[in-house]
Amino acid sequence: MAFLRMPGVKVPHRKHTSNKFPARITPPEEVCLLLSMHIGAPAVPAVKIGDTVKIGQLIAKEGGYVSAPVHASVSGTVKRIDDITTAANQLTKGIVIQSDGLMERYELIEPPKVTDRESFIQAVKNSGVVGLGGAAFPTAVKLNVKEGVTVEEIVINGAECEPYITADTRTFLDRSDDLLYGIELLLKYIQPKKIIIGIENNKKEAIQKAKKLFENKKEVFVQTLPSVYPQGGEKVLIYSTTQKIVPEGKLPLDVGVIVLNATTVAAIAEFVKTGMPLTEKCITVDGSAVNSPANLIVPIGTRIKDVFAAAGGFKTDPAKIIMGGPMMGHSMPDTEYPVMKGTNALLAFDKKEAEIPEETPCINCGSCIQRCPLHLDPPAFGKAHMLKDTKALEKLKVNLCMECGVCAYVCPAKRHLVQRNRLAKNMLKEHNEKKKKEEAEKNGKA
Ligand code: SF4
Ligand code: SF4
Repeated sequence: MAFLRMPGVKVPHRKHTSNKFPARITPPEEVCLLLSMHIGAPAVPAVKIGDTVKIGQLIAKEGGYVSAPVHASVSGTVKRIDDITTAANQLTKGIVIQSDGLMERYELIEPPKVTDRESFIQAVKNSGVVGLGGAAFPTAVKLNVKEGVTVEEIVINGAECEPYITADTRTFLDRSDDLLYGIELLLKYIQPKKIIIGIENNKKEAIQKAKKLFENKKEVFVQTLPSVYPQGGEKVLIYSTTQKIVPEGKLPLDVGVIVLNATTVAAIAEFVKTGMPLTEKCITVDGSAVNSPANLIVPIGTRIKDVFAAAGGFKTDPAKIIMGGPMMGHSMPDTEYPVMKGTNALLAFDKKEAEIPEETPCINCGSCIQRCPLHLDPPAFGKAHMLKDTKALEKLKVNLCMECGVCAYVCPAKRHLVQRNRLAKNMLKEHNEKKKKEEAEKNGKA
């Protein structure tokens, strides 16, 4: 089993927007709400072209157990249902709503009746909330632990370790009531033995606020963490806050832990309080090509171009646009893509910053292995991938790579390690799927 430890790397923080109070953007003329904004089965349309909808109205139902519903984020008319390729290269459908400019709230919205664990989980499901730190795993599924399974700790992820992003920090500063209520709901209905809120030590104001907020809650602990990337990675955070190691192939719950992002908890609280499902998102907009870096509250489904326009547009032609942070985000080919539930940042960089350095031969310095939080061996992944040696990839545990980018960041030869890790992971995945299919066919015939 790969050895989890926490060396990571110091990355520049560049949290230029941490003191910027989120501003709501002017509603866009249209939004495109993807049916696969979450991990799991795509949502299934519950509206047709020509229907009129209002904010918070259900427009797509969950498509399975691991799935999430989608709600209108503007009032208006359903204009199209398009095929879209997402930033992660996944083909999905998107419901396009032409806004009527009125931003009318759906009149049937009312707070859910939450009286026990079951009704709480059902409320979380109906809220459409998924992991808002970027993972986008349906939160109701995460909280729906089997009977007899004890949740030892719920870890609230407030690390926000990627450079630039400050949207979660703003949750601590501006939505403390929601955060407090969300944590009270978790204590009451999920009943963990304790809740640990992990915040990196470069967010002093958020730490102070959280400590004050929870000073009278004996089950809640605010833990200050070193600001080392990737402190917010799920397994890394679990280790930093509980000293537990999630074994290979297991889930956090197998060691009694559930991890939730701070903004996710606030979104659950908002739904239970008001009945308004997840329809908008606070996004950090920053980067050297952006005129006025800001935190902006945008309707989910807003085109990226409209979000950048709300941040004053570009001061120079952007050479690279990223959805998410610079370490783990996805590079976008254009600005037509819509904001998804898990989008927490949009970054645009000028030519100089976007330049990808030319790679030179590996000098076997070992820095990538030393700094990898999982002690993996990226140069060996590259060799095994080149030789199509899936046995070696299996042995090297390439599947554990979380694509955090630490190895590439520290590499003096500027090797494109993450890209190769990704290719190697895909090669092994496809090989294993093929093998499984062949075995199933063989057994079926036998
Ligand atoms: S990208 Fe993968 S191999 Fe590289 S440091 Fe992160 S986990 Fe390790
Ligand atoms: S850090 Fe770069 S140069 Fe050093 S061993 Fe890893 S790949 Fe080679």
